[in-house]
Amino acid sequence: MSIRTRFAPSPTGFLHIGGARTALFCWLYARRHLGRFILRIEDTDRARSTDDAVQAILDGMAWLGLDHDEGPFYQTQRFERYAEVRDQLLSAGHAYRCYCTKEALDAMRAEQMANKQKPRYDGRCRKLTEAAGGAGGSDAPRRDGTAPVVRFKTPTTGQTIVDDAVRGRVVFENAELDDLIIARSDGTPTYNFTVVVDDHDMQVTDVIRGDDHLNNTPRQINIFKALGAEPPRYAHLPMILGPDGAKLSKRHGAVSVMEYRNDGFLPEALLNYLVRLGWSHGDQEVFSREEMVALFDISDVNQSASAINPEKLLWLNQHYIKAADPDDLAAELGWHFERLGIDVADGPALADVVRCQQARAKTMVEMAENSRFFYEAFAGYDEKAAAKHLGADATPVLMRLRDALEGLATWDVTAVHGAVNGVAEALELKLGKVAQPLRVAVAFGPVSPPIDQTLALLGRETTLARIDRALEYRDAESVAPT
Ligand code: GLU
Repeated sequence: MSIRTRFAPSPTGFLHIGGARTALFCWLYARRHLGRFILRIEDTDRARSTDDAVQAILDGMAWLGLDHDEGPFYQTQRFERYAEVRDQLLSAGHAYRCYCTKEALDAMRAEQMANKQKPRYDGRCRKLTEAAGGAGGSDAPRRDGTAPVVRFKTPTTGQTIVDDAVRGRVVFENAELDDLIIARSDGTPTYNFTVVVDDHDMQVTDVIRGDDHLNNTPRQINIFKALGAEPPRYAHLPMILGPDGAKLSKRHGAVSVMEYRNDGFLPEALLNYLVRLGWSHGDQEVFSREEMVALFDISDVNQSASAINPEKLLWLNQHYIKAADPDDLAAELGWHFERLGIDVADGPALADVVRCQQARAKTMVEMAENSRFFYEAFAGYDEKAAAKHLGADATPVLMRLRDALEGLATWDVTAVHGAVNGVAEALELKLGKVAQPLRVAVAFGPVSPPIDQTLALLGRETTLARIDRALEYRDAESVAPT
């Protein structure tokens, strides 16, 4: 049978990096085996699920390029199906209605605690059901006036074994497992039940998820068995920790995938980074998407928790920025400019800006910040840079540069390079003494790509206009009272 995996997030928040790592592993495993990857939105908790969170998950997945073959399915659209399976379990005697009131359950719990027993539902309504003919009782209300809940009849003896692809063999005593509620008194189904119905109906072969779900797995396996179905294989992924070894949280910085995008990371870098959280292939660090697909295996995932390492992510990001096709990166740079409210309609082509910036930017935010002068109108000079480089010495330099540049027969990197060097030679100045005033004049601050490339991209008209402005600024400065 071909491999079928699913990513099944609950839309109660953003797609965080733990979820993205789970999604990546599910996706990789399906792609590696030419299987199918299913997206399922587990939105049964209506109070906590929001449309924004659903959208954030879809956006995050799309940005990372984790495309699904089936879905997205929404659990809230499958309530009829869950009710059908619930009734099937009731009539087969695998589930029963429980009429215990909250008070009764509280008293049960208090007594168990007093006797130093593990608090659990003692199954008292099972007997009620049997006395009522074994068909699962009736829908008559409970003593508190609410409808009964439906509980799954967990086997009371024996063991349930989870042969986990990551954790190995994990044995659970059935006697330790409660008769879990599969339908609440308002009729809504619960997580452990909907997951089984869905994994069964969607013919999922491999459940890959965080190991916070390991304790749910024996319960789910028992429901599968009651349905006469073969449970899928399971793989529980180790936790992701902060750099300090504590559970990953907001205080460790960005946790939502889209926040990483806002911070200027590329999806390739984030994927490469995520794949190494718990998985390795020798000591290789850099994996293209194709390599990940070719090499990934769930059995190579290690059991211990992995800590995030922001430096490594930054290093990978720089690597991918450098290696990217400028045309691909142009779209991402455009997205960042849009966020900054910068209109790129007038100015150099984004791909050309990428070409001259990609060798040095660590993030796309840095690239956008250092490139905004290509598009933005003048809004003042960087004060320190102007004080240092647009002083009295700058006037002759800028005037010579203006003449040389204005006189160029062609406007390209080589011609500009020659002109700037020529001015430095003529004035017997080091290149920096010429390039820095020019840089501040055209980029309004001390940072830009190599000056010849910068000018070539800005174009002659803009360059000359900006030099003129710097000269005017010089005049204004020199007449200002001291
Ligand atoms: N909806 C569950 C969660 O977001 C995951 C369920 C599963 O993968 O089985 O934690």
